[in-house]
Amino acid sequence: MSTEFFVAWAVILGFDGVLMYSLTWMANSRRFRHLRHLPPQNPPLPEGRKKINTMLNNVFSLLIFAAYFYYLGEQTLYTGVPTALTLFGEILGVLLLYDLMYYGFHRLMHRRELMRYCHNIHHRLRSPTSDASIYLNPIETFGGLGLLILAIVLLGPVSAVSFLVIFFVHSVVNIIVHSNLIIPHASFRLFNFWVEKHNVHHSKARNNYASIFPFWDQAFGTAE
Ligand SMILES: [Zn+2]
Ligand SMILES: [Zn+2]
Repeated sequence: MSTEFFVAWAVILGFDGVLMYSLTWMANSRRFRHLRHLPPQNPPLPEGRKKINTMLNNVFSLLIFAAYFYYLGEQTLYTGVPTALTLFGEILGVLLLYDLMYYGFHRLMHRRELMRYCHNIHHRLRSPTSDASIYLNPIETFGGLGLLILAIVLLGPVSAVSFLVIFFVHSVVNIIVHSNLIIPHASFRLFNFWVEKHNVHHSKARNNYASIFPFWDQAFGTAE
């Protein structure tokens, strides 16, 4: 992989960090409390424990991608610039397949034993904030990123540019859906839709299992 690729990836990681902490600050700020979708209703959670968990999950995520680039990068990513149609097809295809597999994985996580010993950590937050997007049992971090990489391996090779867009969409949507903010402006309709959909999931611990596309839940009768 080229230096430019890793610079672009680092820029996206930096953008994700700024977005995550900006949205978290807004959701916790009294100044923006009128934008909150759900009132804060979380059980007391030691701040130190949350910080350690999210920091370790960040490091773990970077290690997963480092292993992916090292062992599978050359076989599954190409460096040429594809046509706009190919680019669009690669991005949409991988995200659709990933989201379908993630739907199944997430639904499985709601089985009683897996919920109790694994997914329950994330669901302790009934009204999440963006920093909760990575407050997870590491098994889920591995599962979620593993499925994204699996979708690329199954449909690839895809262009390095497609990978960067796929990673950007995957990470930004995950941050947005946990923001608990509704922005009253027509251009934020998709943003607000994602927030409402995932807040229902957090507050009721059921339904709306897909991460990006709503129709997987509609197809399997779990949309709420
Ligand atoms: Zn969540
Ligand atoms: Zn869940």
